[in-house]
Amino acid sequence: MKNNSIDPNLASEVKELGASDLEACYQCGNCAAACPLSTGENTFPRKIYRYLQLGLRDKLLESPEPWLCYYCGDCNIDCPRGAEPAETMMATRRWLTTQYDWTGLAKRFYLSEAWEFGALAAVALFVILLFVFFHGPIITDRVAVNTFAPVHWVEFGDLAMGALLSAFLLSNAYRMYHLIMNGTKVPRQLFISEAKTFVLHFLTQMRWRKCGVDKSKWFTHFILVTGYLTMMSLIIVFIRWFQVDDSSWHISSLFGYYATATLFYATVMMFRSRLEKKDAIHRFSHISDWLFLILLFFTTLTGIMMHLVRLIGWPMGTYVMYVIHLAIAVPMLVIEVPFGKWSHLFYRPLAIFLTTLKAKAVGASQVDLATVRHDIGENFESCMQCGTCTGVCPYGEVTTFSLRKVLRDIALDRASDVSVDEASWTCATCNNCVEQCPRGIGLIDLVKSVRHHVAKAGLLPETLATPVQSLQQKGNPWDGKPENRLDWSKDAPLPAFTGEQEYCLFTCCTTAYDTGTGKGSQKAGIALLRLLDHAGVSYGTLGTKESCCGDLADKIGKADVAADLKRKNTEMFLEAGVGKILTVSPHCLNSFIKDYEGLKKVTITHATELLDELIQKGAIVPVNRLEQKVTYHDPCYLGRHAGIYEAPRNILQAIPGVTLIEMQNSRERSYCCGGGGGGLWKGSNGQESLGEVRVKEALGTGAQVIATACPYCIRILNYSIAKMGVGKQIKVRDVAELLLESVDLAKHLPEPEKITLGVSQEYSHV
Ligand code: SF4
Ligand code: SF4
Ligand code: SF4
Ligand code: SF4
Repeated sequence: MKNNSIDPNLASEVKELGASDLEACYQCGNCAAACPLSTGENTFPRKIYRYLQLGLRDKLLESPEPWLCYYCGDCNIDCPRGAEPAETMMATRRWLTTQYDWTGLAKRFYLSEAWEFGALAAVALFVILLFVFFHGPIITDRVAVNTFAPVHWVEFGDLAMGALLSAFLLSNAYRMYHLIMNGTKVPRQLFISEAKTFVLHFLTQMRWRKCGVDKSKWFTHFILVTGYLTMMSLIIVFIRWFQVDDSSWHISSLFGYYATATLFYATVMMFRSRLEKKDAIHRFSHISDWLFLILLFFTTLTGIMMHLVRLIGWPMGTYVMYVIHLAIAVPMLVIEVPFGKWSHLFYRPLAIFLTTLKAKAVGASQVDLATVRHDIGENFESCMQCGTCTGVCPYGEVTTFSLRKVLRDIALDRASDVSVDEASWTCATCNNCVEQCPRGIGLIDLVKSVRHHVAKAGLLPETLATPVQSLQQKGNPWDGKPENRLDWSKDAPLPAFTGEQEYCLFTCCTTAYDTGTGKGSQKAGIALLRLLDHAGVSYGTLGTKESCCGDLADKIGKADVAADLKRKNTEMFLEAGVGKILTVSPHCLNSFIKDYEGLKKVTITHATELLDELIQKGAIVPVNRLEQKVTYHDPCYLGRHAGIYEAPRNILQAIPGVTLIEMQNSRERSYCCGGGGGGLWKGSNGQESLGEVRVKEALGTGAQVIATACPYCIRILNYSIAKMGVGKQIKVRDVAELLLESVDLAKHLPEPEKITLGVSQEYSHV
């Protein structure tokens, strides 16, 4: 996937090529509904307006839709804002032509008349000079074209030109292929079996017949195409039979007459239509539209005139007309075929071919409308396609992922393995979209439903196979031995839970088996133990008996694995007589609160809540000054999922010397680090990750420290800082670590009162 960044210049680039109504469009969709060629999968022209208005350059580049429009103009009629979608599609095709062309010439020719006329004149001059200096003997007592311009020279020149133009055109087509297919894997056989689609549409433009009611436009264009394809075949492939001096009849002459007649007729008809401006397709004419038509007309006219003077037996007239004819025909081909108007004849069938390939390359989804309805109810079908979910999704910063589109494909019962099954793995279950959806749709449940069926079909992403196996065999996703679960804490006070203590500390697997950069999660865990010990909190751990809380298995759709882990932990807690669980990770916190039916009578507390409470009660007194600018990254599972925003901030603000600076995306709008929902095991395929986006945002505040309170976040942010090479500018610290630094451990504190959780923490009681 590519970056989906916004390009503010996009609209003006397309405007320069003829789009004049981008501000008029208010996205009502009438045009798409009116268009006879728009389909559910390839919806246009409204979508193209949206890309242009928002500056979504990458999206526009991978869109085949502008080529699928044949300019019938039906969309213009239904636009309530008087916009001209058909012409905007035309302008977008011009823009795309300039983007496919790697030489940059197409852009120059479309935007500058000086360049276009200059290039045409230069090629014409080249042709004329070629004949001035290299013509054959001039015979004046009879017409001898083959002596003036020996046919084998002309044939060589034609073939060389044909090869050069094909090379330009095909290399541009290759770029178009890459942009549109956007990494879609297509079986080789499909290229062969679908080749007929390209050939058929190239020769006939039959798709145009479905566009609008007036079929005569298609017919005129069709005979024009047959005319110049015939002519090009005659002059490139059959020139030895076509360029003859004797006037004996040959079948090639018949084809020559056909081509000349059709080219003449079609160009005259098109001139008329462009001048009258009655038909939608010819109401607006860019200079490039006129130029191609004029060149084609004069190529035909000079061909006819040369033929006439040859027939009346005027040798010099014939040679001069021959050179003039080529001085128009060659520039037309050289400039217009790869860089100008002509190329649409190639790009259109190619777009149809690629669209067909793409549609056939995708396989069936593991879900359909009925499956998802069964799993999560019908509420998701109330989606009004407002796009809020996609707009707030942090992945919009680094990918083109859209959960709205996933939902839409399911709701329209057209889910495919690519558009739904693969796409759903992108989500980090950060809850931002769920919080902001105006219809209250449980989008994470939708993601879980898809993942569940994909996983059930054995199609789990490869990177998740090892953690799942480890969860099943070792009770943690890090391949750590259960007997080593307490190794991380061997130098810190972590007593066994005996049933006497107030809290049972549950260690996150990521803390227990931390292999991350700088072992940041373990440092955070040890800081917590020292603080609890210092404050006299009564706690212990069940350590080696613990299994993973099941959050990862649950979010990646491995419901059976999650259920097994939940059962083991529930039995463990209940057997040990646990009344209060203290969690290090917000993922464990949410899991115990929301997914553990058997722990309804147990109180679940996150470490930041308890530390905040201990400070308020005077059991922890931060005294040492930490002269640091700190920004706080809200872990999604602590903030949006559990509603805990104040406790970690209270802790930071209680530390003398700390200046807390908020990032723009904080609290309810916090950006996700990408670690949840299996994201920690996903990798970023070499692209910028959400962690890097977050580190950049933190750097923008001028902070020296990113404080956070989640082992996943610590791991991801540390990794991103290392990858970006900004470790000297910014560090990641758990709030407990910062707090510990400001506490004087040597100072004896009075016995704390029994800690009672405040009203703000009520929601975490189960
Ligand atoms: S009909 Fe007009 S206003 Fe509505 S989406 Fe199309 S171009 Fe925009
Ligand atoms: S011009 Fe015709 S084919 Fe093109 S978008 Fe409008 S209605 Fe569709
Ligand atoms: S925010 Fe809700 S209503 Fe809007 S597109 Fe997303 S799921 Fe649909
Ligand atoms: S949960 Fe977060 S990552 Fe997933 S789609 Fe919603 S906003 Fe994006």
